[in-house]
Amino acid sequence: MEEVVVPVNHIERFSKVLDPELLSRYQQVTRSLRERFEGRTVWNVNTTAAGGGVAEMLHSLIPYVRGEGIDARWVVMEANEQFFGITKRLHHALHGSAGDGTPLGDAERRVFDEVTAANTIELLARVRPRDVVLVHDPQPAGMCDALIRAGALVVWRCHIGHDESNQEVERGWAFLAPYLKNVPALVFSREAYVPAALDDGRTTVITPSIDAFSAKNQELDQATIHSILVHVGLVEGPDGEDRSFVRQDGTPGRVDRQVDVVRLGRAPLWDTPLIVQVSRWDPLKDPLGVMNGFGHLVERGMAGDAHLVLAGPNVHAVADDPEGASVLDEVIAHWRELPHALRHRVHIASLPMADIEENAAIVNALQRHAAIIVQKSLEEGFGLTVTEAMWKGRPIVASAVGGIRDQIEDGEHGVLLADPSDRQAFAAALGKLLADPAWGETLGANAKERARHEFLGIHQLIKHGRLIENLDAVHDECGRPAELTHEVMQRRGSRLEEPRE
Ligand code: UDP
Repeated sequence: MEEVVVPVNHIERFSKVLDPELLSRYQQVTRSLRERFEGRTVWNVNTTAAGGGVAEMLHSLIPYVRGEGIDARWVVMEANEQFFGITKRLHHALHGSAGDGTPLGDAERRVFDEVTAANTIELLARVRPRDVVLVHDPQPAGMCDALIRAGALVVWRCHIGHDESNQEVERGWAFLAPYLKNVPALVFSREAYVPAALDDGRTTVITPSIDAFSAKNQELDQATIHSILVHVGLVEGPDGEDRSFVRQDGTPGRVDRQVDVVRLGRAPLWDTPLIVQVSRWDPLKDPLGVMNGFGHLVERGMAGDAHLVLAGPNVHAVADDPEGASVLDEVIAHWRELPHALRHRVHIASLPMADIEENAAIVNALQRHAAIIVQKSLEEGFGLTVTEAMWKGRPIVASAVGGIRDQIEDGEHGVLLADPSDRQAFAAALGKLLADPAWGETLGANAKERARHEFLGIHQLIKHGRLIENLDAVHDECGRPAELTHEVMQRRGSRLEEPRE
């Protein structure tokens, strides 16, 4: 297991963008947590330090907790390819899809348990009784019981889900639920994601968030955006001077690496409108569908001189996503089949991941420069890329799936596609936005306001703070940690995120 080094950050910077009442509510929650958790640690456990929404949120949220004098830490599980193959299959199942169609049976459970056991030994050497452990997503879920027995307060945080149950969803939860039966608090991103098997009074809904000041989301002026995009090779032009951004710890950073781009000929010009999707290379993000929809837009003569950029992480960098390389290969193979005139307008970009904040600054510049940001996912727990686009005030076209429906109201904060596989509707939405930039600006401005009021990190921090405080108070009432079972939580019968009187 590796511990991720997390800097310290101060919440006061939010005073620039938030109302003071919210800030003081946050400070109240953290003050009381600091007193309660003196000498104790709040651990986060997941499976990757880079790539994907969970890593993104942990990098941004933990520093603020540390900034309040609370010892919050982050450890990453170590696992082999076989384990990640199984957990990726599980991930697809919980999203309602069959993934590669492999089984989730006894043999898979044995591999899952073996890897879990090895990691649990290491984690137990660090965690002390009465520490809090936030276990993120299915991969480390098998550790919960041992942590509870060791006297830790365990919260399982699920970042994925599917609205309706189907055979795959049931298969996924049948595999996972046994590991969660003793966990006193379960957190989901949407009410609809709570599976029947776990809907027994210990669940809380907390909406994911973004950090307004991270390298991914901080303001960048046009000259810096230009210099970054030219330097990395995503836009054609003379190399500019200023490719700087501010790192999480306040020190200056600079974009030095370049992007690995598959394209025909030259990069688009600065004035070329870019339609951009940033995502892991995952079939559920539907990169082929984005390309086909863009093809349709061009065929119908509605694309003007727009180009498409499909951007994702360098495929060797995301430890818990073994599918990345094959999906990227498929995207490139599909691109090779496109007619020549279309192919020269489609750019497939693998972003460098060696320095995660440099990667974030490139994503930031690309999102800010995009004429339209798309997220044409077939399934989505909660699209962080959508919130990132909202915060940047960009026009968005996204699928009306999963959490995206909580983020965007169609026609108010962006355009939603009722059927994500409908490439004509996708092309029509893009065409309409390209033809009417003023409309896009209005949608973008509305989206930004909504992100400010609902989706910034401070909201999530307050809710998690209350949850942990309430859980600890119930724990005190129980006396012994192992008795803080879900039956106790059920008897208590109140939702954990509500303030205690
Ligand atoms: N991301 C990134 N670099 C990349 C591709 C993606 O930083 O090359 C980030 C993206 O900006 C977002 C996160 O990864 O913050 C993806 O989160 P989301 O919830 O959209 O999808 P997930 O990957 O969790 O399914």
